[in-house]
Amino acid sequence: MDAILSASVMALSAGLAIFSTASVAEAGAPKVRVRILDGARSVAIRGFDLQFRSVNREDLKLQQASALRSLAGRPSLSARSDRLSNWNLSCPNGGVVQATQTAANGKYPLRNVFFAGPVRVESPAGFVTVAGKQYREKVFVHPIQTRHGWECEVVNHVDVENYLDGLVNAEFSAAWNREAIDAQVIAARTYAYYQMKLMTKRGSHFDLDSTIKDQVYDGSMREDYRSRLSAIRTRGQVLKVSRSDEWPIKAYYHSTCGGTTELPEVVWGTRMKGFSHRVTCPYCRNSPSFIWDVPLSAREIALAIWKGARDLGPADREITRAWPRTWEKDLRESILVDLRVSAQNASGRAEVVTSRWKNVGGKEFALDMPGTQFRYWIGPSRLKSTVFQVLAAGKDQWVLRGRGFGHGVGLCQWGAKTLGEQGKKAREILKFYYPDTVIARAW
Ligand SMILES: [Zn+2]
Repeated sequence: MDAILSASVMALSAGLAIFSTASVAEAGAPKVRVRILDGARSVAIRGFDLQFRSVNREDLKLQQASALRSLAGRPSLSARSDRLSNWNLSCPNGGVVQATQTAANGKYPLRNVFFAGPVRVESPAGFVTVAGKQYREKVFVHPIQTRHGWECEVVNHVDVENYLDGLVNAEFSAAWNREAIDAQVIAARTYAYYQMKLMTKRGSHFDLDSTIKDQVYDGSMREDYRSRLSAIRTRGQVLKVSRSDEWPIKAYYHSTCGGTTELPEVVWGTRMKGFSHRVTCPYCRNSPSFIWDVPLSAREIALAIWKGARDLGPADREITRAWPRTWEKDLRESILVDLRVSAQNASGRAEVVTSRWKNVGGKEFALDMPGTQFRYWIGPSRLKSTVFQVLAAGKDQWVLRGRGFGHGVGLCQWGAKTLGEQGKKAREILKFYYPDTVIARAW
């Protein structure tokens, strides 16, 4: 008891000591580039004594007309007012970033400055607030062309250890046991490090998205002493197939596997290094998503399939039959008569979902979909996984009963939580969910 108490007091005082320094950052950890806004007409930026700098003016000469060059006149600007200033940034024309300083209420424009984009924004205080969320270090505003015209994209460049500190409470919870948190921080660092190497190699201007596409990140506002200590304890540790490998694995993780983890090739159609075994996991039974029911009306199902196929193209994996060429018209004019999982794999995931339809003339036809595609079309948070069966419950009402939450690849967060509570160490939890890997130091 005493030992536990003194350990927690030490942890607490260590936490306080760390708070007095600015962050987990030390020399040596690389920066990760996290895309925090993916195309916005205008971006509200706030901070103390903000500094704006146009980062590669040379490019503008090559790309843009002379009128634009004279418009994008300022290489840099320091807003030295010794107080908070508010800006609205927009990207009105190719390559140009317009920064409009506004009054504190954000309404009255005070001055307009034009830069050749991209523009780096930072503050001597170390934080910049973007669209209401606070980020450490620097943000870059990139003018990009989207289907809506020119928009701004915002990327936070931040020490990867500070990024992990902010990530813990967005992706899982710092209130979980220490070994489970450490295991997840190592998995998240490995995932980020993989993306950093991949996107640098591809010449991209960002490494990761701040959404469920990659890892959910809300900047520094969710940091706390427990997440910070976890980042410090596991500093630089990543998962590799062998310690001498240059690349880490792409350490996928998910909420709840529902009983068995899955291989990447089943979910995304591509084999990935470091994933050659499924793992039987009886440890995520306490997850609120271990078993679930989703009721769906025939109309909802029809609409989801029609919209999904219209926006992304009809189901195209080799495992399914080709759709009739007239599918769009057929779907609009027919009613759903049957929905079932027509093929499932060894771990119980739906490989093929078959829907049968009857049109006004009484003619029936079938549309097959890969399970992962069907899940995505219904909505990945609604249909929580592809481990499900279809129960027909009453007229026009279908109930999908399933297990687990997420793609099922790699670490199962709720399973890791239980293993940590049972006294397993972080390295043991990682060896369990990523049996083909070892822990290596990347920095
Ligand atoms: Zn599990």
